[in-house]
Amino acid sequence: MAGRHRVTLVPGDGIGPEVAEAARLVLDATDVGIEWVVRRAGATAVADGDELLPQETLASIRETRVAIKGPITTPVGSGFRSVNVALRQELDLFAAVRPARSLPGVPTRHGDVDLVVIRENTEDLYRGIEFAPGTPQAEALREELRTLANFEVRPDAGVTLKPISVAGTRRIVRFAFEYAAANRRSRVTLGHKASIMPTSDGLFLRTALDDPIDRGEILVEDLQVDHLTGELVRRPSRFDVLLLPNLYGDILSDLCAGLVGGLGLIPGANIGWEYAVFEPVHGSAPDIAGQGKANPIAMILSGAMLLRHLTELDAARRVEGAVDEVLRTGAVRTADLGGTSSTREVAIAIAHEVRAA
Ligand code: NAD
Repeated sequence: MAGRHRVTLVPGDGIGPEVAEAARLVLDATDVGIEWVVRRAGATAVADGDELLPQETLASIRETRVAIKGPITTPVGSGFRSVNVALRQELDLFAAVRPARSLPGVPTRHGDVDLVVIRENTEDLYRGIEFAPGTPQAEALREELRTLANFEVRPDAGVTLKPISVAGTRRIVRFAFEYAAANRRSRVTLGHKASIMPTSDGLFLRTALDDPIDRGEILVEDLQVDHLTGELVRRPSRFDVLLLPNLYGDILSDLCAGLVGGLGLIPGANIGWEYAVFEPVHGSAPDIAGQGKANPIAMILSGAMLLRHLTELDAARRVEGAVDEVLRTGAVRTADLGGTSSTREVAIAIAHEVRAA
């Protein structure tokens, strides 16, 4: 049944094309009939004389409404805005969902992790409100702060602003409780630093706790994010859904990846009211790009999340089951998990299990 779902595929940079090809191979093995619309973004697009985030790519995602993308390189300190952040803001993909669960055949300190990080994706320090030192804008801001609040900001300071709004918080809170209910989760833990930042993190916390949403049987608790980090390392099984503002969500999802075996294993979704873009948590890994060493499992499991989104539940379960089976057997695995197999060999083994299921 070819072409039942049209999905935009953005291979991305670095290891992106390798893991994207792997995910495509596995998703095609499910026979749900995906018609892939391949579009560029990132360094790959710039090399072809296009913008970092080409209009054609955005238009394709708006048309298909669903996309899966590989990681995209953000050159540090070069003045480039992150394509990933821009994409989330352009399409208003306000919720990042990143499940981390202990996987068979992947030994880690804790064998019983099963949690989901839900991260607000559009506000906070990632909003992109930046003032470089010495610029007229930074000078105007310094002057304003002096007048408004008697704050003296050093003239050589760079400044990043952290907006967190009631409306932005309310929608991620509702999303998180709806997600928890739909996925039979029993507890939502809010992470914040309300003691130090009462007007941003404090607002996030108060808005979340005061929201009149019907939480059903789902428990809610809150922890200062530093305390939460320590507890996650010590006793991760005590957590279920973590609801976090943007920056803490970014950092703690890598921590959660570390708890279950590393970045090569953790999938993710960026969800808005209209569009959804699925992508692994990891970056473009320039240190191993082009060598066939990348673990494709994070991208393949992002594909399973995409299948769920398309309500292809049986296909999603088959992909997740196939990943578990290949990991359990242990014969085919990439170097990050102690093996010697290539990205493609892992994808072929998983696709084989998908067909056998
Ligand atoms: P990274 O995730 O690319 O790499 C961190 C480490 O993990 C590296 O040693 C890498 O080899 C390893 N690793 C990552 N994915 C792996 C995989 N699938 N298999 C095996 N090993 C893997 O993080 P970084 O080095 O901080 O970032 C590199 C670039 O990626 C930067 O430009 C960053 O901005 C970008 N980035 C993009 C995204 C995204 O597109 N969503 C996310 C994070 C980082």
